Amino acid sequence: MRLRYNYRLYPDASQRQTLARLFGCVRVVWNDALAKRKAARKAGLPWIGGGDLQKICITAAKRTPEREWLGEVSPVPLQQSLRDLDQAYRNFFDSVSGKRRGPRMGLPVFKSRRDRRQSARFTRTAFRLPGDGTLYLAKIGKVEVRWSRELPAAPSSVTVIQDAAGRYFASFVIEVQDAGQVLPNAEAEIGIDLGLTHYAVLSDGTKIANPRWLRRRARRLARLQRALSRKQKGSKNRERARIAVARQHAKVADARRDFLHQTSTAIIRENQTVVIEDLAVRGLVRGRLAKSVSDASWGGFRTLLGGKAARYGRRLVTVGRWFPSSQLCPCCGWRNGKVPLEVREWDCPSCGERHDRDLAAALNILAEGIRLREQVAVASPAGGRQDMVAAGLADTRNDCRGRVRPGEAIPTLAPPATYDAQAA
Ligand SMILES: [Zn+2]
Repeated sequence: MRLRYNYRLYPDASQRQTLARLFGCVRVVWNDALAKRKAARKAGLPWIGGGDLQKICITAAKRTPEREWLGEVSPVPLQQSLRDLDQAYRNFFDSVSGKRRGPRMGLPVFKSRRDRRQSARFTRTAFRLPGDGTLYLAKIGKVEVRWSRELPAAPSSVTVIQDAAGRYFASFVIEVQDAGQVLPNAEAEIGIDLGLTHYAVLSDGTKIANPRWLRRRARRLARLQRALSRKQKGSKNRERARIAVARQHAKVADARRDFLHQTSTAIIRENQTVVIEDLAVRGLVRGRLAKSVSDASWGGFRTLLGGKAARYGRRLVTVGRWFPSSQLCPCCGWRNGKVPLEVREWDCPSCGERHDRDLAAALNILAEGIRLREQVAVASPAGGRQDMVAAGLADTRNDCRGRVRPGEAIPTLAPPATYDAQAA
């Protein structure tokens, strides 16, 4: 399993300059290679392979006066840039042929120096951790790092990133053995009801308050945005105002990421089975509550839960989005019909029990998750999709982007789990 570990970098003034040049070279190589492939395709010429592309866009280009300066930076990030381009093409082709699930990928596009995020990737031969707390990068030198946590193993690569707010990060990739990560089995099982009144209500009665990060900072952000819009295009002041806005956004993203990591880790540590609803988040984002919904970042939360469940040997079960979690009585199973959002409590007309709306939903989600899990176990010893379809468990009503089938853990949905990460 591959994990990412991210740290803040503090390059000095001359290193910042060298990095800016490196980002530029990486971009130029990417753009040149993309242009060559596009031109070859237009002319009906055969596909240019990775090796040839490297010869044309790096080795030969360095000998021309227009691209001479490519020789001033480490060749490793340039080669990585071409590898990334190949990967982008592969993703596109696999997406078109249906080999790759998930959202449709587009063709690779040209990069601009105006892009908000610049990056360069170094493999083993081009970086070192000399042990004095710095990160050594080829042709750049020792860069100061803030080690917010320890690296558990030697990294196989590092990507140096500059974000929109002008901050620098080192993102290390580390290969870990899956087996060593599995936690001892936990007794507990839990259902999660996601909402806006509370961020989440758990079936054990825990209520996690909604932090409303954006709202809290919205007024300040609006003021900064207004200031930005009054600045003249291309001026130094405008650039300064743009960075202030980007910083504010970065603060919101940091706070959100910390909250999601802490919450998901706690839930995965304490429970063997975690059941969550497959909300049609995309549908909700268009509605009246759009700002609150995207602020809550439920999709990101679910992805984190999936990644951590896979990593620690827990099970994440997703209940279909059509399951009427807020309508059932968790005691007797009576179906109550639609309850308006304002109604926080209701009495079951069948058994007379009084229910907290969100807690009842969490209990229903847990019960449904356990039922699904057992059905899958019976229907599909091998765990194949065919068996799930036969058992009526595959959610065929999913839209093209919905990749989650009920009763199935979703690690396939999760990218390499990101810890202490600057969200990519
Ligand atoms: Zn009842």
